[in-house]
Amino acid sequence: MAVYQNILLAVDLHPSCQDLTTECAVEFAKAYNAKLSILHVVEPIHAYSVGQAYPMVTEVEDQIANEAKKALSTLSKKYGIPHSQQIVEMGPPVMIILDNAKKLNADLIVLGSHGRHGIRLLLGSTANGVIHLAQWDVLAVRMKE
Ligand code: AMP
Repeated sequence: MAVYQNILLAVDLHPSCQDLTTECAVEFAKAYNAKLSILHVVEPIHAYSVGQAYPMVTEVEDQIANEAKKALSTLSKKYGIPHSQQIVEMGPPVMIILDNAKKLNADLIVLGSHGRHGIRLLLGSTANGVIHLAQWDVLAVRMKE
């Protein structure tokens, strides 16, 4: 049976999914006495033709990242995940999740089967991408409708 030592939880910070996935990851971490890191990826704003307004776009992205840090900190506090294990990064979610799993030497990635985009497909696009590309075990916590 696999023994997990480093678990990476990816959260989209949507109220309807974050608690279910976090509770599950916390229980796994307790059961295996594993280190649990929590990651939120801020998606960049696609603004190809804004010209001189570009600095405003980066300012908005910084504000979103700051809000995300606060929200992740609140969620982490509720579940006892220390500050040093909270990560907020900007970029394409699937690649950033995989990149952090590698950096952290994670042996299990926990995410929701669906996220804030709702249940339209069998798996959401982030979950689908991570499951197909990860070299580690992935637990997709089933989101109910
Ligand atoms: P999705 O596939 O986008 O519907 O989301 C499925 C799951 O992937 C969510 O429940 C989260 O666990 C994770 N996820 C989605 N987007 C992000 C994100 N921006 N940062 C971290 N995790 C995410």
